Amino acid sequence: MAIHVQNFCAIKETLQSSGAALVAVSKTKPVEDIAALYALGQRDFGENYVQELAAKSSELPADVRWHFIGHLQTNKVKYIAPFVHLIHSVDSLRLLQEINKQGAKLQKKINVLLQVFIAGEETKFGLDEAELKTLLEGPELTALSNIQICGFMGMASFTSSEAQIRGEFARLKTLFDTYRQQNLPHTKLEILSMGMSGDYKLALAEGSNMVRIGSMLFGSRG
Ligand SMILES: *Cc1c(COP(=O)(O)O)cnc(C)c1O
Repeated sequence: MAIHVQNFCAIKETLQSSGAALVAVSKTKPVEDIAALYALGQRDFGENYVQELAAKSSELPADVRWHFIGHLQTNKVKYIAPFVHLIHSVDSLRLLQEINKQGAKLQKKINVLLQVFIAGEETKFGLDEAELKTLLEGPELTALSNIQICGFMGMASFTSSEAQIRGEFARLKTLFDTYRQQNLPHTKLEILSMGMSGDYKLALAEGSNMVRIGSMLFGSRG
């Protein structure tokens, strides 16, 4: 068994005091490892690749809650829409509209988080603050009755500076608290998804209520 049971128990204990949820990030890892963590009671798993997620979901119990956390192309939404529990990585209106379209076909609401760009370094994905505002306050959102915006997701810079990481998480928490008070269509902000293996304790200290942890649970990825 390749999973790190001791880390799993330690993380669960840390999360208990804050009440934050754990998404076990199983990308590139075999279904046997997911099944091993499932046997210990874990139900929320995160994947980054559409084909991999679709294949794994068909092999694992139906009560697994699948989180999609990778970059999502609009033409692939249809493959995960029927069963995905939460899409963390929505970074454009176009993607949101496609998710809404697939939700309408399935006659359900699909739960999403908006991915917000908070890192100081240059990465490709996530809405910046101006784009977030445009999306949340623009007129287009009103028509999207087959999505529910449940919160925000963000990734901090890959840096050894704790102060910088904390500052980035704190910024996202502030945005979360600000938009939370607004009455926006198809939006109920409850989930703040931030923190990975290397920085989840800092994220929790800055108000995260959902952490996405991979390598600490499943070992490093090649
Ligand atoms: C891979 C990944 C994680 C988990 O990263 P670890 O450092 O292995 O814990 C979390 N979030 C996203 C978006 C990822 O792509």
